[in-house]
Amino acid sequence: MDGRYSRQTLFSPVGEEGQREIGEATVAVIGCGALGSAISETLVRAGIGELLLVDRDYVELSNLQRQQLFTEEDARQMLPKVVAAERRLREIRRDVNISTWIRNADGPLMEELARRSAVIMDATDNFETRLLINDAAAKHGIPWIHGACVGSSGTVFPFVPGRSACFRCLLPVLPAVNATCDTAGIIPPAVSVTAALQCAEAMKWLTGNRDSVRRKVHHFDLWSNEQLDIGVSRIQNPECETCGSSPVYPELAPRAAGSTAVLCGRDAVQILPDPARPITLDAGEAIGRRLGGKTRRTPYFVEFRAFGRRLVLFGDGRLLIHGAKTSDEGRTLYHRLFG
Ligand SMILES: [Zn+2]
Repeated sequence: MDGRYSRQTLFSPVGEEGQREIGEATVAVIGCGALGSAISETLVRAGIGELLLVDRDYVELSNLQRQQLFTEEDARQMLPKVVAAERRLREIRRDVNISTWIRNADGPLMEELARRSAVIMDATDNFETRLLINDAAAKHGIPWIHGACVGSSGTVFPFVPGRSACFRCLLPVLPAVNATCDTAGIIPPAVSVTAALQCAEAMKWLTGNRDSVRRKVHHFDLWSNEQLDIGVSRIQNPECETCGSSPVYPELAPRAAGSTAVLCGRDAVQILPDPARPITLDAGEAIGRRLGGKTRRTPYFVEFRAFGRRLVLFGDGRLLIHGAKTSDEGRTLYHRLFG
């Protein structure tokens, strides 16, 4: 090794052997916003072998306050977050392997990621995706590192299959971070601390320091200067659908076509396409031009206006309807446009 990682191998719990293990590891990062940016950069700098990055969104100016991989130019180009992230991460380290997905995480994708990864990092902003990670990780027997932050506070816990109750079991006792889709404020240090704690847990796991992996749910508040470690060893539902005696992993079942999601903090509704009837970018562009509003096409999406809303159609057929308040409104508009 050329000394690039000398400060890390000097730290004896890592050492040369641990560094080699980090360099051979694949880690999936679900979400590439604030936490995903910080986690990805830390892992790439630490020498991770391969990163699998998933995010469904593009960069906007309001992201730059806390999403450290992105620039004003990325926002101007509305680059998908994983595209902008990959570009920046390769500038930091040329030899890192990165695979990206610009799409909604679903059961089949999460299972593929779980099969390929040593650890899954939670950098999402919603409970639905966390339950999906929880099922895929439990089914494939790998740990995932939960992280959530809002305001000046954050929560971190490594879910290790067989060692603790799963996320589904712990939901009633976890601090209600990101429990709702309300747009809440956040300060960058809350992101940095949460991501740093998550990365430390991942590094312990990857380097074989498994006794050092946290066993309590850690919660902190950087403004009130309080922190809390919640013991959870005795909480487990024996009937749990994920970690009980006869698990069924309900989140991994395919989602219904045309299903919708009101996106957290985004003031937008997302409509998933019917796989049998995908809407292409060409079709979206044609509709946008026919409606006569300003239409913009990039390699990744078409942005156009219809019925007083700003719409973004992605290459995978997802439609984001900005300003829509409810799933019903989103669905109605989708059917008026695409039948
Ligand atoms: Zn459980």
